[in-house]
Amino acid sequence: MDTAKDICPSTIYGENVFNDSVMRERLPKDTYKKLRRTIEEGLPLDPTVAEVVANAMKDWAIEKGATHYTHWFQPLTGITAEKHDSFISPTGDGRAVMEFSGKELIKGEPDASSFPSGGLRATFEARGYTAWDCTSPAFYKDGTLYIPTAFCSYTGEALDLKTPLLRSAEALNKQTMRILRLFGNTSAKRVVANLGPEQEYFLVDREQYDKRLDLIICGRTLFGAKPPKGQELEDQYFGRLRLRIGQYMHDLDTELWRLGISAKTKHNEVAPAQHELAPIYDPSNIATDHNNLVMELMKTTAKKEGLAALLHEKPFEGVNGSGKHLNWSICTNDGENLLNPGTTPHENAQFLLVLSAVIKAVDEYGDLLRLSIASAGNDHRLGANEAPPAIVSMFLGDELTAVLEAIEEGKPYNGKERTFINVGVTSLPPLPKDTTDRNRTSPFAFTGNKFEFRMCGSAASISEPAFTLNTIVSEELAQYADRLEKASDFDTEVAAIIKETVKDHKRIIFNGNNYTDEWVDEAHRRGLPDIRSTVLSIPSLLEKKNVDVFEKHGVLTKVESESRYEIMFEKYIKVINIEALTMIDMAGKLLLPATLRYLSELASLVSSLKAVGVANKPVSASVEKLSGLAAAFSTELDALKSAVDIASAERDTISQAKAYNDIVIKAMNGLREVADTVEGIVPSDLWPIPTYSDLLFKV
Ligand code: ADP
Ligand code: MG
Repeated sequence: MDTAKDICPSTIYGENVFNDSVMRERLPKDTYKKLRRTIEEGLPLDPTVAEVVANAMKDWAIEKGATHYTHWFQPLTGITAEKHDSFISPTGDGRAVMEFSGKELIKGEPDASSFPSGGLRATFEARGYTAWDCTSPAFYKDGTLYIPTAFCSYTGEALDLKTPLLRSAEALNKQTMRILRLFGNTSAKRVVANLGPEQEYFLVDREQYDKRLDLIICGRTLFGAKPPKGQELEDQYFGRLRLRIGQYMHDLDTELWRLGISAKTKHNEVAPAQHELAPIYDPSNIATDHNNLVMELMKTTAKKEGLAALLHEKPFEGVNGSGKHLNWSICTNDGENLLNPGTTPHENAQFLLVLSAVIKAVDEYGDLLRLSIASAGNDHRLGANEAPPAIVSMFLGDELTAVLEAIEEGKPYNGKERTFINVGVTSLPPLPKDTTDRNRTSPFAFTGNKFEFRMCGSAASISEPAFTLNTIVSEELAQYADRLEKASDFDTEVAAIIKETVKDHKRIIFNGNNYTDEWVDEAHRRGLPDIRSTVLSIPSLLEKKNVDVFEKHGVLTKVESESRYEIMFEKYIKVINIEALTMIDMAGKLLLPATLRYLSELASLVSSLKAVGVANKPVSASVEKLSGLAAAFSTELDALKSAVDIASAERDTISQAKAYNDIVIKAMNGLREVADTVEGIVPSDLWPIPTYSDLLFKV
């Protein structure tokens, strides 16, 4: 293991990134300046600049050992994609030179007919193209120059997760700048949303992993009886890092640092074999690219070290699943965090206005936020008493809530001193950064100077929740700006907006324990949507208000929303279908045969005993019991097979998805139940797959 003695993190940090300092060093001054303007101000890129940049990038990458370049993109599969091209260019005399043109840097044309497009692209015009995203730096990895790109159809529709994110960042910038200018801010040039994703994951031993088809194919266990010990001793959370895990985390950090990813925090999580990694936050586009790399390197580093990293939202039943807390804030280019309560009345009016916009957004578009994190995997977590319920609500803490109530009612705020809060005139009483008891059950919690969106799935890209948040907050800020630009008295109008927002949208604020049944009842009384599954959530995408908000801010066209709707349903169906088929395979070829083998062993024992005149009642009883279970096992297996047949025969996508959600999942649970019972009876040497104890405690 390399340690800090061998490798100094600050020396290796960013060494594999074509970052600002490399560009400054390697590009002619004029080219560098033009490129920076494109990066910072979104100005169109001059083709001659691209030519020079491409050449410098190629030389830099070749010095690192690159033979190829790739346009790295994020199709709607949810994982990244790459097609590698070598720099080789034959000279015609039997030799070759290494070339990379500006054109090749700017645009790529992968044969993209096999990526999900939701009908956006007929196969006869299957070509999509990738376009260089110069706002996220290129990097070197595995003999290849990686160029972050957006992926679009030839008619310009987004076929990926990056394009809408970039568009949403632009929308947020535009609308927030309007507000800032109204508050008299003339110095800020741009506004960005910053994201800090806390990534949870499990590590298991590779040899055990390789023996489980369910882990290999589905990323989660489809069978497995409860181990004697789970997480009840609470000895894993923040526990000492075992040597093997410590080494893995160190090696992972080192690789991430080389790629300029600021891996900062690492610790053991609640469940056995569960861990977390959090980087320091970055602007949304870069944070998203980085999180994709974090997930990839978690897996590849694990493989190198005889481990397997599980990123699935629910790898083990009965054990906490994994999520991804997405920390989100809005900041100016000169470092002002707009979610930071200020010290002057002026700063606070601005803070309260931005806060109001988020409150209104989360209330009006809670269904979209719910949708942005919906997946077959995340369905196992939401509402399962380990993760927030599927009901979107917001935690503000008692102090801030009391301040807002005081504003709404025009009553004094009962803080340390009784004060009337007059927006724009009075400073807020100092708000403690962290309220005494930090609420960890809220899906969307204010944590002093940022929001933490806690519903995100561990395996999913953070792009979708991020572009959804950026868009819906842009919409509210736009509405506020429209009013404020016309207002005769600015301060009065700001105060009126805040008051109105609190009055109309305070139902979304809940500071209590979101894991209780009382909250679910209360949320129903408040009329908050309680959308329990992915299948029920997807239709929100095509609700008029939702199509409109994405369209108005140029984030998704109606056609793009429609295609995403199709893709989400299709993906759901495919995931459940694969899981069901994997169960059928494992049950039919491994688990049921093992059951029958043991049954036959026991039965022979009974007849052998009988032959010598011994009657052993307990053994005979076991035979009967196991024989009954084996019969039930076969029945459940057949039931799952026919459930899959019924579901897959459904003609339209929605009924098919519903059938998988209802009939197939029910049959999967039935099969699992009997298999897990049998696992408790069959001796270890006959049970053909590693158990939960093997997976969770033998790492
Ligand atoms: P905790 O587990 O206590 O919530 P962590 O330290 O694990 O906190 O993670 C917090 C994450 O929030 C980190 O990625 C951090 O960089 C990020 N973060 C901190 N401040 C901001 C901010 N202003 N905007 C966005 N993310 C932030
Ligand atoms: Mg954390």
